[in-house]
Amino acid sequence: MAAVLRSPPAKAYVPPPITGEYAEPTAKQRELLAIAADLGRNRFAARAAQIDRDAVFPFENYADMRDAGLLRICVPEQYGGWGADFATYVMVAAEIGRHCGATALTYNMHVCSTIWSGFIADDLDMSAQDRADHENNRAIHYERIVRAGKIYSQPFSEGGAAAAGKAPWGTLAAKVDGGYLINGRKIFASLSGAADYYGVLCTLDKPGATQRDSLYLAVDRNLPGVTVSGEWDPLGMRGTVSRNLLFKDVFVPDAERLMPEGIYAQAAVRWPHMFATLSPTYMGIAQAAYDFTVQYLRGEVPGMPPVKRRMYPTKQVTVAEMKIKLEQTRAIFLQNARAARVDPPKEVRLGLYAAHYTIMENANELCRLAVRTCGGQSMLKSLPLERLYRDSRCGSLMLPWTAELCIDKLGRECLYEPGERDEEPAA
Ligand SMILES: Cc1cc2nc3c(=O)[nH]c(=O)nc-3n(C[C@H](O)[C@H](O)[C@H](O)COP(=O)(O)OP(=O)(O)OC[C@H]3O[C@@H](n4cnc5c(N)ncnc54)[C@H](O)[C@@H]3O)c2cc1C
Repeated sequence: MAAVLRSPPAKAYVPPPITGEYAEPTAKQRELLAIAADLGRNRFAARAAQIDRDAVFPFENYADMRDAGLLRICVPEQYGGWGADFATYVMVAAEIGRHCGATALTYNMHVCSTIWSGFIADDLDMSAQDRADHENNRAIHYERIVRAGKIYSQPFSEGGAAAAGKAPWGTLAAKVDGGYLINGRKIFASLSGAADYYGVLCTLDKPGATQRDSLYLAVDRNLPGVTVSGEWDPLGMRGTVSRNLLFKDVFVPDAERLMPEGIYAQAAVRWPHMFATLSPTYMGIAQAAYDFTVQYLRGEVPGMPPVKRRMYPTKQVTVAEMKIKLEQTRAIFLQNARAARVDPPKEVRLGLYAAHYTIMENANELCRLAVRTCGGQSMLKSLPLERLYRDSRCGSLMLPWTAELCIDKLGRECLYEPGERDEEPAA
């Protein structure tokens, strides 16, 4: 008589760490990842549906991150922060992105104000006077974050060519005694009405100003002349609350410079990974879509009947396809995380565009496959997958490195060395 084959005792799927157990995290990385995973699993995941439904800012998540010290993750240690480097930050951001995309994406805007003024500024050339001023100014910003838990945002988009890096910012900063007078309008300003300080990119108002005359200023949300306007009812990333910001004759003191005059333009050229901090959120979403699919097909989604769908070959093929894409995404994510540095060689720069593109596009592709293979019940609003699907679609729209612009840059820079030109092809 044939032996009766029995299944081994049931064990639930355990989602892996965001690093997939390939990277050997440092002690600091382990500590920070544990904090982010704990908050994400036990607090953020449960709040994500309501934040998305009502398109409201995740204030409670920020209170938790403030208490846990995550708002000061990239503030240098000498100023009371964790002093996390690029790789550490992107791992933590990806872990948060698994549980709430809008929290991770807005967290990026906040943390970038400390990365750009922190280890990136440290690597750039500036005069001794600018360096001394910068130390004094950033001490003020870091004090606000470390001691008072203040939140910063990063509105640079204006609806013109500036956010793509093709023109000077239309928002102007006129130099006046003791500071600047700001006039202009920003669109898609995530954390509008929620951040304490808006880290505004603008152009020094002078004849013949170019992108080299960029300024990066922290604008107190309560200053006279600062207003928030417009509706916010988008497809995804709804908790970012990215409305318009208007600046009408707003006086901003000199000490609010987050970088010295002109240094942003140097950073954009010499530290290109500064724009790649938008993709970790989507690494997290890619992992979440895969985790959901495995749990769903195994009949292990909490609150759902324990119906197994894993025995169908087509589902196994799709999960295999998803796993391959996920591992490709993670590999390039980790490679890119480790490669960040000032003045990267050409191959690292090209790899960076490829990584950013791959993470943004694969996150959406993984969500698409997840919905298709899990089926109708999986896309009900009572489950997270349809939110992951909508949030994932927003990644490759983010300037300056949309999916299209990554392709543009890659194609051009693969074929041309700096300064090379061809004659226009005949019409
Ligand atoms: C959820 C969400 C949150 C956001 N948060 C912020 C934020 O906090 N701060 C902020 O500054 N911005 C933010 N943005 C804005 C974002 O970075 C882009 O600026 C915005 O999505 C651009 O929309 P647009 O329709 O004006 O794009 P357009 O400028 O009209 O561009 C449309 C597409 O055309 C292509 N394109 C644009 N310029 C060029 C060019 N010169 N050459 C070739 N192709 C080009 C790009 O692929 C782009 O996707 C956010 C966007 C989203 C969706």
